[in-house]
Order: sequence, then C-alpha cells, then structure tokens
Amino acid sequence: MIKVKSFGRGGVHPSGYKKLANSKSIKRLVYSGNYIVPMSQHLGAPAQCLVSVGDEIKEYQLIGEAAGFISANVHSPVTGKVVGLRQISLPNGAVSNAVEIEPDKDFIDNMSSQQNDNSDFNLDEMPSEILIEKIKAAGIVGMGGATFPANVKLSVPKGKNCTDLIINGVECEPFLCADHRLMLEKGDQIFKGIEILKKILNPDNISIGIENNKKDAIANFININAEKGVGCNIQPLKVKYPQGDEKQLIKAIMGKELPSGALPIDLGAVVLNVSTVHAIYDLFYNGKALVERVVTVTGDAIANPSNFLVRVGVPYSFLIEQAGGFVDEVKKIVSGGPMMGFAVLDTSVPITKGSGGILCLSKSIVRDKHTTNCLSCGRCLNACPMGLSPAMLYKLIDSGKYGPAMKMGLMDCKECGCCSYVCPAAIPLVQGFKLGKRMGRK
Ligand code: SF4
Ligand code: SF4
Repeated sequence: MIKVKSFGRGGVHPSGYKKLANSKSIKRLVYSGNYIVPMSQHLGAPAQCLVSVGDEIKEYQLIGEAAGFISANVHSPVTGKVVGLRQISLPNGAVSNAVEIEPDKDFIDNMSSQQNDNSDFNLDEMPSEILIEKIKAAGIVGMGGATFPANVKLSVPKGKNCTDLIINGVECEPFLCADHRLMLEKGDQIFKGIEILKKILNPDNISIGIENNKKDAIANFININAEKGVGCNIQPLKVKYPQGDEKQLIKAIMGKELPSGALPIDLGAVVLNVSTVHAIYDLFYNGKALVERVVTVTGDAIANPSNFLVRVGVPYSFLIEQAGGFVDEVKKIVSGGPMMGFAVLDTSVPITKGSGGILCLSKSIVRDKHTTNCLSCGRCLNACPMGLSPAMLYKLIDSGKYGPAMKMGLMDCKECGCCSYVCPAAIPLVQGFKLGKRMGRK
C-alpha cells in the first residue's frame, strides 16, 4: 500500500463539495457570440496587442505578443474578424486591454468536429531548446491559477539542475474538479505531456501528487504509468488545504522546506499543474496554442453542475446558462475556488487561461458574518501553513506599519485564506494582506 503524504504545519479541512460536479464528463462548449480576449491572462506584463479593428484573423493566430521576460503570448481562440479594441474588467477585478472578435459562421459550425493526436510529432527529433521555444510561442502558462509562464519554469538557470519534476494533480480547492476530470478522461494525453517534460528537464524523479479524495484518478494514473513504463511515482496526498500550493507540495513529496524567498528550482524542483501538462501535449500533438481550458461550473445555486471545455474569451454568463442557470437565489458568484477565488460582480467577464471554476453559491453556504475585534484565540496562527502570525500582521497593516509587516514575513503570505477561514471574529485578514503587500511594495 502506498503511504499517503502531506505537509506538516498548518492547513485546514473545509467541506469539499466535490460531488456536485466530479462525476460530470467534460463537455465541449461552442459559443457563437463575440469573443472578448484579454491581453492580460497571465502573471507579469500584459501582452502587446498586434491587431486592429477590421483585421481578418485565424484560429491560433498570434494577436498579442509577450512584452517582457515574465509575460505570455495571446492567440485568437477563433477564426473571424476583429470588431473592437477596448478595456475590460477581468474576473479578478483587474483591468486589461482586450480584443473583441466576431467569429466566422463556418468556423463555429465546424468547431465541434476537431481532430486529435497528430502522429507526425516525433519527440526524439526535437531538441529541448526548441521544445521550450515552442511552449513560449504558444503562450502556455500555469493553469492551476498562478498563470506563471511555463517556458520560464522550464528554463533551468545555469548552475542549477532539476532533480524532481512534480506534476500537481492535487486540486485542493473545494468544489473544483476540472483537473480531476482531466486526469480521468485525458490520462494518456497527460502522460504524453510528461514525456515531453522528461526530455526537457531530464529529472531524476517524476512524481504526480494527487489528493486522496480522487482515488479513481490515482488508480487511472497507476495503470497508465505501468502500461507506458514512464517510471512516475504516483503519490496520494492527504486531503488538506492548501495541499496544492507549490511549497506544501514540495514539502509533502520531497520532504524539503522551501526557504523564504527561494524558488522551487533552488531545491531542484519544477512543479507543473496537470492542466498545463495537458496544454503542452495539445501543442505538440494537435498544434494548439493555449486558447482553451476545462472549467468547472458548480455550486448549490446552479441547476446542473458541469465541467466544460471552453475557449478563452467566452463570457461567464454563457457557461452559467449552459449549466442550466440558477435554481436558487445567488448570494455570491466566485471565479476560482472559495478559498482563493475572486467575487464576480459582472458575469460578462470572459474566460481566461487561469479560469478553473465558476461557483454560484446560495445564502445557505455564504452566510453573513459580523466582524468583531480580535479575540487573540490563536487559531489563525495554528492554521497558517507558512508559519506566519496573521493576527500580528493584520494589526501592523491596520495601523499603516507596512515596513514592519514586511519584516514579519508579509511577502511570504500565499493568500491561501486558511487564517480567514478559521477566524471566529470574521476579520478580513487576506484582504488586509493583499492591501499590505501593495502598500509595502510602494
Ligand atoms: S493567507 Fe497568508 S497569513 Fe493567512 S494562512 Fe495563508 S499564508 Fe498564512
Ligand atoms: S483567528 Fe481571528 S480572532 Fe483569533 S487570533 Fe487570529 S485574527 Fe484574532
């Protein structure tokens, strides 16, 4: 029997609500309205727009060019015509330039009959540097939520060595199951993606971390791994939030603590999400730049919780409608998971490369909380996986002492939400830390 591993310090056990959508197969959505494609769908500098109103463009055409080392290319999700350039709000509330594309009718009519698996791709004939260049050109970013450009992670700096490639199949946020479905339905393709990464990084060990509430995905991966002889370590992990955080995953799998300010590669690790690995497969075997992803639409207020394969640029409202709309009065709509996601005020916002889920929650899940003074109960201290003192940090930020808060480790805060989750005084700790970081940087 394989030992179930985890990280040690802190963490919480929120209700999973995974059953709402984890048995729903991935369904491709075809949207015939205008696509709104933001230039900022990744961590780092927004892409530079390359098109003008009136341009006829093709599916996968480069429409935004990476504008810096930490940035990513943006491609058209459809064949059609540029009908607008404007600023829009993103699901996380930030503002971005965006391209509005009216899709070609014939293209939309043929969209559901796409072919898969180009047998012409020969991994042996492609050098590692070219593989990384192509991943960069295709605008592939971390799809677990961080949206960090994948080519940057895969370019191991001189003097460093990747000993451990860790594939993140944890999906520890409650409600979400897009990665879970992908591991069940596209396991073979994910392993083809892993073969590509193996060639790029030449690691000593390859581990795939999966939370132990996805036993079917673990069994599926154990079978594929044995069949293909890839030699991966399929590692079940304890169901504990935030198990999928890079630092906690490294601790669970390698048994090593990532020091403050260090990068995973400083410990020899490169961590990539299963959806990102699947996007890498899709690039080399199907010639697809990153323009689509799996999104879970779920929550107690949605009629038919679903997992959709959908192109970027499609409005959230269309996915909600395709999931049957609302069955109850919606108290809150969240982009992402309930622990780290963002409240959505306008459902016309578009799907981006980082949109893993849309949660529609009723008042029976989202209860009004009345904030009181800190009770000095210490629960936040015990819950923090980073070993920080959230109550102390919050007090410093609340009194404008951003410098001392930075010295106390504010920048190590992952904004995981564990402290807010356990706080009986309902103090908006994470919002405070986000503000503190912004002010501290200034
Ligand atoms: S949000 Fe920050 S301070 Fe709060 S538990 Fe997570 S890492 Fe610790
Ligand atoms: S959990 Fe909330 S009430 Fe308790 S010490 Fe932390 S901030 Fe104060």
